[in-house]
Amino acid sequence: MRECIVAVDVGGTNIATGLVDLNGNVLHRGKRPTCAGTGVANILKRIIDAISEELEEAENQALEPKGIGLGIPGLQDSLGGISFSAPNLDPRWQDIKVPARIEEHFGLPAEMDNDVRCHALGEKLFGAGRGVDNMILITLGTGIGSGIFIDGEMFYGAGSCGGEVGHVTIAEDGPLCSCGNYGCVEAFCGAPGITRRAKEAIGAGRESRILEMAGEMEKINPRIIYEAAVAGDPLAQEIMDDTGKYIGIAMAGVVNIINPELLVVGGGVAQAGEMLIGRIRDEIKKRAMIKQAALVKVVAAQLGEDAGLIGAAMLLPTRKRID
Ligand SMILES: [Zn+2]
Repeated sequence: MRECIVAVDVGGTNIATGLVDLNGNVLHRGKRPTCAGTGVANILKRIIDAISEELEEAENQALEPKGIGLGIPGLQDSLGGISFSAPNLDPRWQDIKVPARIEEHFGLPAEMDNDVRCHALGEKLFGAGRGVDNMILITLGTGIGSGIFIDGEMFYGAGSCGGEVGHVTIAEDGPLCSCGNYGCVEAFCGAPGITRRAKEAIGAGRESRILEMAGEMEKINPRIIYEAAVAGDPLAQEIMDDTGKYIGIAMAGVVNIINPELLVVGGGVAQAGEMLIGRIRDEIKKRAMIKQAALVKVVAAQLGEDAGLIGAAMLLPTRKRID
């Protein structure tokens, strides 16, 4: 019987699930709404229902499930299996031993990591980072997160909280960030920060097609700003250029410290492609120290939305929970 792992990638909007073989092939995909904010018990039930469906599908495809890999957002002790908080799922979500509950329910080994580290593990094993020992993957979306590999090993830090590259300060008196600090790169370049910069400029009277393309102020988002930039709108181009520059400023510092051979850029905002990634690359090359700048390649992620599922599945063989 062909072996597989049930993978779960829990986000604030959807619970994505899949069956992944040990070579990183996704054999089945499922998706259901997370119903964030409806209580811990309900969200856990939705995760369990989603896993049950994948196990049925495994039986239909004559696959042997070996374990369950979980990508869960928020602060957690990944290796200890405790999800401390996940405000995107529910404000009442606190200190949940998700893998233990899943193991108990299904009688299969379960492992958990945060969504961004799962994404990074997927890209390292089967995507842009194949064969690379020192790598940083950053995800650009509502927030800016990272998964970091140092000398081939996933980096966690003392409290399992390492890798928060979105909260590198780039401006002493910058805007307030969701973390409580001022001037974090995420406050400028997370999706709400990008949108805010556009609205502020338009509100201050800058000419731009962004508002016309969005229809109204409240509908402006990074995708529309990107499309306006492609269409030649100078303000949109300036916002995209600043976004790449600010991320590059933050990442030049990180690159100096970690000395990676690869920086992989993923997440929804990274769909802007080379317009953004090229600008990040230029700023890093300009600012990082000579050796570090020369060694690091800056590339787009390759696996798209599958990366989180593949990485969640691969937590089990990586942590030697299955052969
Ligand atoms: Zn911050």
